[in-house]
Amino acid sequence: PFDVLVIGGGPAGATAAIYAARKGIRTGIVAERFGGQILDTLGIENFISVKYTEGPKLAASLEEHVKHYNVDIMNLQRAKRLEKKDLIEVELENGAILKSKAVIIATGARWRNLGVPGEAEFKNKGVAYCPHCDGPLFEGKHVAVIGGGNSGVEAAIDLAGIAKHVTVLEFAPELKADAVLQDRLYSLPNVTVIKNAQTKEITGTDKVNGITYIDRATGEEHHIELQGVFVQIGLVPNTEWLEGTVERNRFGEIIVDKRGATNVPGVFAAGDCTDSAYKQIIISMGSGATASLGAFDYLIRN
Ligand code: FAD
Repeated sequence: PFDVLVIGGGPAGATAAIYAARKGIRTGIVAERFGGQILDTLGIENFISVKYTEGPKLAASLEEHVKHYNVDIMNLQRAKRLEKKDLIEVELENGAILKSKAVIIATGARWRNLGVPGEAEFKNKGVAYCPHCDGPLFEGKHVAVIGGGNSGVEAAIDLAGIAKHVTVLEFAPELKADAVLQDRLYSLPNVTVIKNAQTKEITGTDKVNGITYIDRATGEEHHIELQGVFVQIGLVPNTEWLEGTVERNRFGEIIVDKRGATNVPGVFAAGDCTDSAYKQIIISMGSGATASLGAFDYLIRN
């Protein structure tokens, strides 16, 4: 059996695996897609000490760093079930059952997509999901934020300080964000809020040049010319496979303590799949290190 088995090969999982391997214990890592979300990221400017890098490049160096250690890498494998017996068992979609004394779950998250024409086509060409990451690319431009919940309104407030103009499109008749956020949003001179707006299409040529929406009250179609669209309709943790085993909050995020421990003894979690307040590369790496040290601590006590 493994001493530490990491599920997930993004920044959190890679870090957890390296920290475990450096303790000289038997370490494995299972990843559906080694690299995780950063594979879909173009420019990265907030990975501190590296002024600029690109997602696929960072993913390749993550993998190279993991490979430098004695880690059993099982790429292109998906975990589908976890069970605590004497050891912790993880069943893969291919039927294999892996056993380990401790498990670190780092299966990350995915942004909920709008699913309209243009969204996939213009991803990283004007369609963005992370205002902390990509906001500065839209300095002085006109952008839209889709979604009027807390994350959408926070994104709009954030972007209003950078962009020339921000248009918030909310599907429902009212914004769902907290009142304090709405007050702040409405106090900004360069923000327009459109409610009852159903996004129909993101338009562009080589990059985004506009958005088309339907006013759900009148049925009329409108088009706005702009350069960027931030989709803020939810971040979904990849934790469905843990249903009934590991405790999660109402968003599906795994609940962890200061050491990254879950409610199941020997099972730890890190990164975007947890209830961490913010989801970023550097934060995922920090929590991967924390969970790995937590797991090591658990092993020497049991
Ligand atoms: P992930 O990166 O999501 O990795 C999860 C891993 O688990 C993957 O290997 C996945 O294949 C695997 N996995 C999932 N389910 C299973 C399963 N059942 N079995 C086995 N493996 C599984 N952050 C920044 O700090 N700066 C940025 O500039 C930035 N830009 C971004 C741009 C985009 C377009 C996106 C989508 C995100 C961006 N982020 C950025 C956020 C950042 O990518 C994430 O916070 C970070 O990748 C989270 O790392 P993670 O390891 O927790 O999860």
